[in-house]
Amino acid sequence: MSVELANISIARPATIEEAVALASGPDARYLAGGTDLLVNMRRGITRAARLIDLAGVDALKSISCDASGVVVGAGVELARLIEHEEISRRFPAIVQAAAAIAAPGHRNVATLGGNLCLDTRCVYYNQSEWWRSANAWCLKNRGDTCHVAPQGERCHAAFSGDLAPVLLVLGAEIEVAGPAGRRRMPLAELYVEDGRAHLTLAHGELLVAVHLPADGRNAAYEKVRLRGAIDYPLAGVAVAMTMQDGRIESLRVGLTGLNSRPLLVAGTEAFAGRAVDDDLLKAVDRLVQHQAQPVRTTLAAAHYRRLAAAAVARRLVRRLAGG
Ligand SMILES: Cc1cc2nc3c(=O)[nH]c(=O)nc-3n(C[C@H](O)[C@H](O)[C@H](O)COP(=O)(O)OP(=O)(O)OC[C@H]3O[C@@H](n4cnc5c(N)ncnc54)[C@H](O)[C@@H]3O)c2cc1C
Ligand code: SF4
Repeated sequence: MSVELANISIARPATIEEAVALASGPDARYLAGGTDLLVNMRRGITRAARLIDLAGVDALKSISCDASGVVVGAGVELARLIEHEEISRRFPAIVQAAAAIAAPGHRNVATLGGNLCLDTRCVYYNQSEWWRSANAWCLKNRGDTCHVAPQGERCHAAFSGDLAPVLLVLGAEIEVAGPAGRRRMPLAELYVEDGRAHLTLAHGELLVAVHLPADGRNAAYEKVRLRGAIDYPLAGVAVAMTMQDGRIESLRVGLTGLNSRPLLVAGTEAFAGRAVDDDLLKAVDRLVQHQAQPVRTTLAAAHYRRLAAAAVARRLVRRLAGG
């Protein structure tokens, strides 16, 4: 059973300023490709009386590349990101992650901004109205108990966007526009560990662009999923690593699909100066297993997802080291 969408008005701004002004109303919400938002609205888990359609805001669609860095507009579609020559050359991991999102039809309309602002997911939440009502709803939506952790007070729904961990390991910053003006911050500050409210954007704030460094060739992304053709990550891992004289110069690991936010694994700076050997791979494995906090939000066991994340992290480190 899906929910009627009849009583919704749609505004079509042409500029960022217009979009932000229109979004200040209480029940307004940005609509990008709609591949997450409209599904959730049809299921009655997200509500909005007014959609601010970003498709006509040209300023969100640009990709600019120079020697100092690359800026990608939040409205750039995933298919365009994948086909962009400079992005493929400088940031293969972005292409690996974007190409693993949903299906080709989705990627033609789904955007970078929508992917970074994706709602968190849980097997008890991403269900029809009928299914959830039969289960007395849950803490994230209309209910008062979390079926995953009934004794707890918080929602553990998992953030499952594929691009965020890659952008985290590349050191990306985001630009945000809102009623109070513009601000720029590290991507990590967009997220908090709360499945009900995992974004730090204030009401009406718009993600405008992602700022990347000049080069991110030494990075890779892989995800583990139930269906190879099309599925969210049960565990998604990005690694960025540079080597000097056979030793690690810098190593960063990003995770998705596990916690309520995409996570930059803490403590990897301690690996600088070490060779990539079995001891190092074991240490990476331990760090990932320690910081990944999957719970029973998918049909696959949480323990499996933790082990899978660690195994993929080891594999990517070995591969980037040339082994
Ligand atoms: C069958 C299916 C499979 C999928 N598989 C995957 C997958 O494997 N991996 C994955 O990561 N995703 C997956 N998705 C989810 C989705 O397709 C992608 O995450 C997509 O990138 C979302 O982008 P969008 O432009 O469609 O976002 P929308 O649905 O338009 O928006 C998503 C959210 O972001 C907000 N938003 C959008 N743009 C902005 C902005 N500029 N500033 C502030 N807020 C904004 C919206 O208000 C909404 O809350 C799947 C979806 C479907 C239907
Ligand atoms: S983790 Fe709990 S509160 Fe959150 S969506 Fe799942 S069942 Fe609901």
